[in-house]
Amino acid sequence: MAGETYQGACHCGAVSFSVDLDLAGALKCNCSICTKLGAVWAFAPKSNFALKSGAAQQGDYQFGKKSLHHRFCTSCGIESYAEGMAPDGTATVGINLRCLEGVEVEKLTPRPFDGRSK
Ligand SMILES: [Zn+2]
Repeated sequence: MAGETYQGACHCGAVSFSVDLDLAGALKCNCSICTKLGAVWAFAPKSNFALKSGAAQQGDYQFGKKSLHHRFCTSCGIESYAEGMAPDGTATVGINLRCLEGVEVEKLTPRPFDGRSK
């Protein structure tokens, strides 16, 4: 699975990052937050992720089992990524693909993920 490097940011640009990602793993989730957010996600080890700006401007929203940190910009409100742990214990980031430059989400075929019943 070959990844590519993408640039991402929130709406106002305060939070920005680069990430090596494979869009073949894109998924959409039916859980309570994804339903409202409308995000399409892809995941990468956190070591593939570099926050370029906005460390001090991020909120950290957690709910339910609190296994995920939803990172949103406290200025524009956009959640551009989330942090968590893969089942094997690897620190992982989930990227909101709608926040990446040069990615047309409508051209992807994200696989459904049943987060609602997890
Ligand atoms: Zn912002």
